[in-house]
Amino acid sequence: MGFVREVDSVGRIVIPMQLRKEFNIVEQGSKVELFSDGKQIILKKAVDSCAFCKSETDLLEVDGNYICKACLDKIKTVE
Ligand SMILES: [Zn+2]
Repeated sequence: MGFVREVDSVGRIVIPMQLRKEFNIVEQGSKVELFSDGKQIILKKAVDSCAFCKSETDLLEVDGNYICKACLDKIKTVE
């Protein structure tokens, strides 16, 4: 059974605390990612990952994007 929520005047909804706790989306500033499969909107916790290989470890942030150390090392060897 789903949670019914009202959309406010600018399109915001409140994610029920029960779900926020279950998916560790509790802290202010936590990011979520929204998808559509054409029939439904799917919301998942956004995870920072390397823009090249999608690794989630050893990340460096560059202007809001992430690159992992391994990909950075590869780029450094390109002339
Ligand atoms: Zn990478």
